[in-house]
Amino acid sequence: MRLNIALDAVRQASLAAKSVQRSLDRVSELTKDDRSPVTVADFAAQAIVASILRDADGSTPLVGEETSAALREPENNALLALVTEAVSSAIGERSPDDVLTLLDHGGHDASAPEYWVLDPVDGTKGFLRGEHFAVALGLVCDGHPTLGVLGCPNLHVATTQSPEAVDGQGVIVAAEAGQGCATGGMEGPLAPVKRSTCEGLVRVCTSVEAAHTDHTAVDAAMQTLGREWTGVRLDSQAKYGLLARDQADAYLRLPRPGKRYVERVWDHAAGALVAMESGTTVTDISGKPLDFGHGRGLEQNTGVVAAAPEIHSALLEAVRSSG
Ligand code: AMP
Ligand code: MG
Repeated sequence: MRLNIALDAVRQASLAAKSVQRSLDRVSELTKDDRSPVTVADFAAQAIVASILRDADGSTPLVGEETSAALREPENNALLALVTEAVSSAIGERSPDDVLTLLDHGGHDASAPEYWVLDPVDGTKGFLRGEHFAVALGLVCDGHPTLGVLGCPNLHVATTQSPEAVDGQGVIVAAEAGQGCATGGMEGPLAPVKRSTCEGLVRVCTSVEAAHTDHTAVDAAMQTLGREWTGVRLDSQAKYGLLARDQADAYLRLPRPGKRYVERVWDHAAGALVAMESGTTVTDISGKPLDFGHGRGLEQNTGVVAAAPEIHSALLEAVRSSG
C-alpha cells in the first residue's frame, strides 16, 4: 500500500536528516567551505526515499529536488563519502555509486501523469539554524496531489507545546485524497485530525525568511481582515502541518513586490494535501487551486493563501485589497 511505503520512506529520511542536523558542527568541520552540511542531509534523505520507492513502486517516476551532478565532481569525493555513510547507516550498506544511482532515480521532470515528488530537506535555512525543517513526499496524479506525507522532525507531538519550539521528538502528518488526514509521532500510530472552527484569535503561519514571503504584506492583510491575530513563523511545510493539526488557522505566502517567483512542486504537494484533507482551503493569492500539472514549477499560480474555510475568502479579499 502506497501510504505505508511513503510513511516508511519519510520516517527513515527524517531520522537520518535529524541526525545530520544534530552533528552540524562536526560535519561542517569535515566538509568546509561552501560544501554546506545541509548538502549531506539533502542528498542522504533523497537517496533513502529513492531507495525505498524504487524497491516498492519502481514504475512510478520520482521528482526529487536534488541531482547527483555535484556529487559526481571528483573534488566532492569527501562529501559523497559522508552522504554514503548517512545513507548506509539508515538503510544498510550502500556504495558511493549506489548513492549516485539512487539520486538519479529522482531525476524525473514532473511531466508524467502520475509522479512521486520529494523535497528531501524542505526549509534548508531552518535546518542550518538548528530549527524546523520537513521531509515532504507527495504523489501527484493528473495535476492533483493524491497522497502526502510530511516528516517534521523537530515539532512536538503535543499540541499544547508552542509550534515554534524546536526541541520536539518529531511529528508525521499524512493524508490520502478523500481519506482525511492523520498525525502522530515519528514512530507510533497515527490518529485522524480535523480542523475546528476558527472563532477567536487567528493564528497565521509565515516563513521565517523575508526573501520567501512579504512580511509587511502579511501584516497589512491581517490589519485589513480586522481580526485579532498572532503570527507563527517557522520554516518548511511544517506550516501546512500546523494547519492540518489545528495548531494554526492560516498560512500566507505572499510574493514580494516586483518579484515573480514560481513556486516548486516539491515545496507544496505533500503539504497542501495534508492541509486540504484536514478541512483547510488551499489556493494561491488569486483564489486558484494549486495546479501541479505543469512540470516542476507551479507555473499557473502565485503565492499561497491557505486558511480555515470560514476565513479563507475574507482573507483572500484582504490580501487583494491591501496589496
Ligand atoms: P520557507 O520554509 O517557507 O522559507 O520556504 C522554503 C522554500 O522556499 C525553499 O524550499 C525554496 O524552494 C523556496 N524559495 C526559495 N526562494 C524563494 C522565493 N524567492 N520566494 C518564495 N519561496 C522561495
Ligand atoms: Mg523546499
